[in-house]
Amino acid sequence: MNFFDLLAQLRALIILAIISTISLRYHLLDRKGVLASILIGYLIFTLGGVEHFIILLLFFGLSSIATKVRVREIGANFSEKDWIRGWRNVLANGLVPTLIIVSGYISQPQYRSLATIGYLATVGTAFADTLATEVGLFYPKKPRLITNFKEVAKGTPGAVSPYGYVGGLLASLTICVFSYALGLANLSSIPIIISASMIGMTIDSFIGAAIQAKYRCRVCGKITENSHHCNQQSERIMGVKIINTHMVNLISTAIGGGAALILFSLLMS
Ligand SMILES: [Zn+2]
Repeated sequence: MNFFDLLAQLRALIILAIISTISLRYHLLDRKGVLASILIGYLIFTLGGVEHFIILLLFFGLSSIATKVRVREIGANFSEKDWIRGWRNVLANGLVPTLIIVSGYISQPQYRSLATIGYLATVGTAFADTLATEVGLFYPKKPRLITNFKEVAKGTPGAVSPYGYVGGLLASLTICVFSYALGLANLSSIPIIISASMIGMTIDSFIGAAIQAKYRCRVCGKITENSHHCNQQSERIMGVKIINTHMVNLISTAIGGGAALILFSLLMS
């Protein structure tokens, strides 16, 4: 799409306005989350094209549905309103894909297909992470920490389960099926996108287990990834302070995208 095509710009804005209204109406995003997603959606729609935008929408729509189903069946996970996504969550998942689309737009045409593979792997990682968390919460037994395989409470950063991996794999397969149908991916790029998403998702768990900050609530004693619990500041017991759940997502989407580019250069050279 030509960025300077006014009619296309208008079309993007109308579609974004409709999606924003639905997101607010169904409490999928808060107000700042809507603003952040309009910015990301607009850049991906106008610089990447409608096909790239559909992939983003697929991730957002299916993640929101998965979260709604989980909340209805088993309730909140990390905090009281963890199902309403804010701007931090939107940027954590959408910033790296957007940067890849912008880089692809300003680079030479021969790098555009590479940017598309990187983009699909970052969105694939973000979607795999999200669906792994949501599906993993349905696992009937206790999940295990990826670093030492000890049983931990559900929702612990870095906890893995067979259900979680099935969820992650389903997410990246969904991205691939739609990308193929939209002409963004071909049969040789699909294994790259799936592998990169699985690598990104696994690294996400590693960083979550080993580096992410964890806190103990001073009131109820629960160990969480939130610096506040029971309306009070919690005590940090391990991890790096600035590495919160959003930072982990940001890093892992970048690693998922990077993994796709490395795999592509190894397999296609
Ligand atoms: Zn508490």
